Amino acid sequence: MFRDIVGHDKNIEALRNALRSGRIAGAYLFAGPAHVGKEFTAMMFAKAIHCKTADADACGRCVSCRKIDDGNHPDVRLIRPQGNWMKIDQVRAMQRQLTYRPMEGHYKVCILTDADRMTTQAANSMLKTLEEPPGDTVIILITAKYDAILLTIRSRCRPLKFGHVPLESLARELTRRAMLPDSLARQIAILSSGNVSKAIEMAESKEGTHEPEIPPLLTGLEPLQLFREAERLQKQTEQLDVLLTWYRDLLMVKQRAPDELLTYVQARPLLDEVVRNYASWQIQQAIQWIQETKQHLQRNINSALALDVLVIRLAGLNARNR
Ligand SMILES: [Zn+2]
Repeated sequence: MFRDIVGHDKNIEALRNALRSGRIAGAYLFAGPAHVGKEFTAMMFAKAIHCKTADADACGRCVSCRKIDDGNHPDVRLIRPQGNWMKIDQVRAMQRQLTYRPMEGHYKVCILTDADRMTTQAANSMLKTLEEPPGDTVIILITAKYDAILLTIRSRCRPLKFGHVPLESLARELTRRAMLPDSLARQIAILSSGNVSKAIEMAESKEGTHEPEIPPLLTGLEPLQLFREAERLQKQTEQLDVLLTWYRDLLMVKQRAPDELLTYVQARPLLDEVVRNYASWQIQQAIQWIQETKQHLQRNINSALALDVLVIRLAGLNARNR
């Protein structure tokens, strides 16, 4: 059911409206960061299109929903790159299928994950289908690299932008599904870096309940390691939230707050040790720098530079007090 999707309320509303009004677009482009649930949403949409019982939703139990879950519904096709590339043969195979009428439902649904990895030939071939789409077809292109999709392809799809799932929504969902205490749910949400399926997996296996490691930027780094850390942050900018949470915990510890206010409560002994390296104003300063950096990244300011500056500042803060 659509309510199994964590976050993305606006997009779900748009898809449900399309289902209710019967105005389903011939092609969609789901664009947004990796692991936030784009493919899951696309599969849910495919199920809702074919579902025999639910209204503008997927029941998850009817023969259609189950076939799609098992990957053997004749009118739903999921295409992923073979190796590094999505090749022209894959697009051609899809096109051959689109020449037939749907077998069981009213639409044929093709979901192409990592559509940015189409070869030039494949992309040009895909463009032909998008220029003259068969009426009973829904094509959903999925990408984490919107800019890598040909402009001509983009312009022929209805775009749905996916953002990061807010930590609070993810934590709430983990609490609901795995009946975790709030602090643990929050910690797992942070540790998963916003990767929804990973977070759910961790919550269900109660992973993340072991003692977390203090990020190296809190404990001081050698110059070379600093740049490696900046690189790592650039690849996984969600890690800035992890860092931010650690500094907030440090501030709590500095102010002798009780354990239940900490996110990394199991790391209390480590936090107690690290906090001795900092004065309160330094921790507040660090929090401010991280928040500023996050804002810079959102505004697409040179992210490598912004992160280099951040790690150097944070390391300096720590070194001065050692
Ligand atoms: Zn169903």
